[in-house]
Amino acid sequence: MKKVTLLGATGSIGQSTLDILARHADSYDIYALTANTDVESMADLCRRFKPRFAVMNDADANKQLKTILHGEHTEILPASELLTVAAVDEVDIVVAGIVGAAGLMPTLQAVKAGKRVLLANKESLVMAGDLFMSAVRQHGAELLPVDSEHNAIFQCLPPAASADGLSASGVEKILLTGSGGPFRDRDPATFNSVTPAEAIDHPNWDMGPKISVDSATMMNKGLELIEACWLFSVDESDIEIVLHRQSIIHSMVAYADGSVLAQMGQPDMRTPIAHALAWPNRVASGVEPLDLVAVSQLNFSRPDADRYPCLELARSAWRQGQSAPVVLNAANEVAVDLFLRQQIAFTDIANTIDSALQHMTYQPLEDIETVLEVDAMTRRYCDSIQ
Ligand code: NAD
Ligand code: MG
Repeated sequence: MKKVTLLGATGSIGQSTLDILARHADSYDIYALTANTDVESMADLCRRFKPRFAVMNDADANKQLKTILHGEHTEILPASELLTVAAVDEVDIVVAGIVGAAGLMPTLQAVKAGKRVLLANKESLVMAGDLFMSAVRQHGAELLPVDSEHNAIFQCLPPAASADGLSASGVEKILLTGSGGPFRDRDPATFNSVTPAEAIDHPNWDMGPKISVDSATMMNKGLELIEACWLFSVDESDIEIVLHRQSIIHSMVAYADGSVLAQMGQPDMRTPIAHALAWPNRVASGVEPLDLVAVSQLNFSRPDADRYPCLELARSAWRQGQSAPVVLNAANEVAVDLFLRQQIAFTDIANTIDSALQHMTYQPLEDIETVLEVDAMTRRYCDSIQ
């Protein structure tokens, strides 16, 4: 029995993970579930999945959960224990499914405790990639990508590529695919009137609100570019972003001999989660088999820079290095939140990030405190310009 802590249990990644864990209840035991504020969903999950512990990040939510679940199987720990449940000795696997910068510290804690970490929280690598990957090496953690593209690349790369370098492994480049989101065919002249409901209505994937907006701006692909650079020790120039509207190919690796390996499957996060959970074995995930005849067509094109200005902002933040990706990520989180609350227009997401990248001075990220400081300073700046 492997013991699992699931960070972000009430979210989209959380739901997909619990679906797989329930299918393999004889192999995995749920140690702890964590979430932010959604008490009702958490109470329901605790009754269904009977974790030993549950933690809400929000203190009031934590108190409410304690009252609701009084006398039941699950013990509710104080919010301060959110980091502990990711790191205790008993736990083997931590699923990092918190959204945004809030995921950084608990995920890093799991890494420092040398766990198998299933990484969905891409923001933690964008913010602190160097420190994070050093901690993975230093503490012997097993970092497995759950983000579908990175999981696909992981499956298609030769195992030694990250250590030996791409060219020594015969790899020409990585092809990072993206659907283009809900506005791939919409006239960009109408982008300033995009509503939150339109932006989160993704054509292929069912995801949380923040990553859905990121997919509409394609900042998600920008964050994924940086995530891939850290995960696979490559440069942004080694990665080509390709639009693939069906989301059947989840990314590809091109080799020097002309071979291109692709990982395919339904757009369902249960496939990469099951892969990372059972790796190097394979287990059933409940995902519908892929019927290529029914799919019938796979299309590819290049993303248009005018339609997706966030892509270039992310590439330039990576090239800039130092704290620029922290600024990129924090400004994006503030802007997406403001857009979802109808405080700014869709087109102001990219404008806000651009403004923050121009305004902030960059500094080396020597420790995690500096990362958190830059994150906080950027958030203050973005709030101040609204
Ligand atoms: P979501 O909004 O559906 O769920 C987020 C979860 O994080 C919730 O359980 C919430 O309670 C928790 N959370 C939020 N703020 C928190 C805080 N301050 N402290 C503790 N917990 C907090 O998000 P999601 O779509 O499941 O995405 C989660 C992460 O996975 C993101 O980083 C996203 O980029 C990544 N990801 C998601 C998908 C997907 O299909 N949903 C695919 C690839 C990667
Ligand atoms: Mg992805």
